[in-house]
Amino acid sequence: MELVRLHIPELGARYAVRREDRFGLVSSPFGEMTSRRIDALKSVETIPRDTDVERLAPATPSKIVCVGRNFRSHADELDNPVPDEPLIFLKPPSALIGSDRPIAYPAASEEVHHEAELALVIGERLVDASADNAGDAIWGYTCGNDVTARDLQTRDKTFTRGKGFDTFCPLGPHVVPADTFEPARHHIRAQVNGTRRQSAALDSMLVSIPELLAFISGVMTLQPGDVVLTGTPDGVGPIEPGDRVSIEVDGVGTLTNEVVARESSRSS
Ligand code: ZN
Repeated sequence: MELVRLHIPELGARYAVRREDRFGLVSSPFGEMTSRRIDALKSVETIPRDTDVERLAPATPSKIVCVGRNFRSHADELDNPVPDEPLIFLKPPSALIGSDRPIAYPAASEEVHHEAELALVIGERLVDASADNAGDAIWGYTCGNDVTARDLQTRDKTFTRGKGFDTFCPLGPHVVPADTFEPARHHIRAQVNGTRRQSAALDSMLVSIPELLAFISGVMTLQPGDVVLTGTPDGVGPIEPGDRVSIEVDGVGTLTNEVVARESSRSS
């Protein structure tokens, strides 16, 4: 089962479940709507798959929480120590784009990097959770790209600018429910123009996903629809206008975005 969010002519932005040749429209799925309940929907409104739809990022989070240095290999390649506690930061929801939408390369940076990351979408409000039960709050998984202006991240005291430009959070192409995907059994990869840049087993994270959620929810309440990016392995590197970046998590799907130069007076 794949959950998507589409922009449909006449209807606007809608969540939908992909069925063989149709999309079944559903109301906001996060919160009390479990994957089983979505699967059980029978008389749902459907549209043919050949309808001219645009794929949007498959969540509308109140916040995107990111985890830095959660793979030893990536901390080493940037000469950063492995932190004693998870290092967390936020990306603004305005950075979100779906698969096939362009990443806009800002004029303020001369070194923009891709970062392949497993993303999870929260299904239940989570506050002060323990690692034992935090995993139950995960609705599902998707692919994320924590696009980073590395020069600005290094120059500034905070990550806000270097990680926060519009389009710097590609997410998608769809969410697979948590009860159908076991991250520790899978790999994540990044390709730029078809050349492999990153590849790692998801079980090589330093801090496990339930431990991350326990840590984050001890700081800030996670709301249904919130997104957590779980950190990137080694192999991050520059992308340039004209490049095509793909983030693949096997068992989930592939998120692909082209890089374009950001225009100063964009209309959208
Ligand atoms: Zn990252």
